[in-house]
Amino acid sequence: MDCIFCRIAAGEIPSATLYEDEDFRVILDLGPATRGHALILPKAHYRNLLEIPEELAGKAMILARKIVAAGKKALHCDGYNVVQNNGAAAGQTVFHFHMHLIPRYEGDQAGVTWKPGTLTEEEKQEITACMTEALR
Ligand code: AMP
Ligand code: ZN
Repeated sequence: MDCIFCRIAAGEIPSATLYEDEDFRVILDLGPATRGHALILPKAHYRNLLEIPEELAGKAMILARKIVAAGKKALHCDGYNVVQNNGAAAGQTVFHFHMHLIPRYEGDQAGVTWKPGTLTEEEKQEITACMTEALR
């Protein structure tokens, strides 16, 4: 299998590495939404949030917090988006689990928001019923 993020995480392809430990490498995104946009890559290959083991997913979130804290200090950003895409329909283009850490600056034009829709009473009931059933 030829996965670019496996190769970057393993250090076979050079990257702008911000942080590395036994489980993860954190790199700068080559197509940044804003200054300092970083990616958390697990060193082992998992396609998405459903494949990554729970314990590693937990570690990824703890690491995200560490990077956000460092970014606020070093980049003087005003906020952060933590984004994690699953599936082509959700915008995933590299099918090796990763988390985007996107520093936000007042007035930047980064497009990581959505236009709010509406939730009808019927949908509220139908979605709550099927989701609570699936979560049992
Ligand atoms: P996603 O759309 O969530 O799959 O995000 C993939 C991200 O990986 C995009 O933001 C790309 O800019 C980024 N990307 C793709 N190839 C590389 C690479 N070789 N080095 C750094 N970032 C990359
Ligand atoms: Zn991979």
